[in-house]
Amino acid sequence: MKPALSGATVVAGVAGSPVRHSLSPAIHNTWLEAAGLDGVYVAFAPPADRFAAFAEGLRGGAIRGLNVTAPFKEAALALADQASPTARAAGSANLLVFQADGAIVADSTDGVGLLEAFASQAPGFDPAAGPAVILGAGGAARAAAFAFLAAGAPRVDVVARTLQRGEALVAALGGKARSVGQADAEGPLRDAQVVINATPVGLGGAPGPDASLHLLDPGCVVMDMVYRPLRTVFLEAAASRGLRTVDGLAMLVGQARPSFARFFGRPPPAIDVRARVLAALETDG
Ligand code: NAP
Repeated sequence: MKPALSGATVVAGVAGSPVRHSLSPAIHNTWLEAAGLDGVYVAFAPPADRFAAFAEGLRGGAIRGLNVTAPFKEAALALADQASPTARAAGSANLLVFQADGAIVADSTDGVGLLEAFASQAPGFDPAAGPAVILGAGGAARAAAFAFLAAGAPRVDVVARTLQRGEALVAALGGKARSVGQADAEGPLRDAQVVINATPVGLGGAPGPDASLHLLDPGCVVMDMVYRPLRTVFLEAAASRGLRTVDGLAMLVGQARPSFARFFGRPPPAIDVRARVLAALETDG
């Protein structure tokens, strides 16, 4: 049974715009309830141009911390007093912790979440075993690229619609990354041992990104960061070719795990949070 809120309830949350359909409250509150902790996790939707004022107002620990989602991840890093090397490398933060002395500490857990998703849904997959192709060159692509290179990927090929954006990302990644246009992706796709969709293409059941799945090696793993629907057209197409797949909800849960530990002082309980969150996903479409 959910414990009553008390005078000592620890508050954390997620800020985004829009944030109404975020699954983070379902994930964290399920864990809080299972652990019997006196805490609550809520969603905030500050006006798009007022995020900095909103976060500054939380200095000193009115709430313990915030997850940050689009479009505030870059702003979150910019206003922090301290940032982890991962957040600095990713150029954005999805986690802010408000310390009692007034400092704001930023971190980025998207990369950790992505690797956890592969560990849980593609057991035995080794990021170091071959090149990765990442579709997209935004914040999530950047976090994925850094995570894969840090995990030993011999090369990351960024397939970008806007070439300048791909080139800027590759410049930040160093020598093991290349930027290719969508029309030139054939070679990288043939070599890839993993393909990750880090664009919003496929959201709401729309057709998936334009990646020629027939070119992929049978051992290639296909991952989609989009999780509405959970089984995207892209993942279904990959599965129908016999390829292993990893879904975006596994990444979302993976990035939430270290956030929970920072907010509530202990790791989340070992329960199947995914089943509960899937119910929320089905309820609100
Ligand atoms: P972002 O910074 O806005 O970047 C989006 C990228 O997708 C850009 O490179 C953009 O290209 C590209 N793109 C958009 N529409 C496209 C299209 N029709 N064709 C080809 N490329 C297109 O967004 P983000 O923060 O990186 O997020 C990307 C996706 O990942 C979102 O759907 C987000 O919800 C999801 N995500 C999921 C998780 C998770 O835990 N599962 C975590 C983070 C993000 P241009 O530069 O040309 O616009």
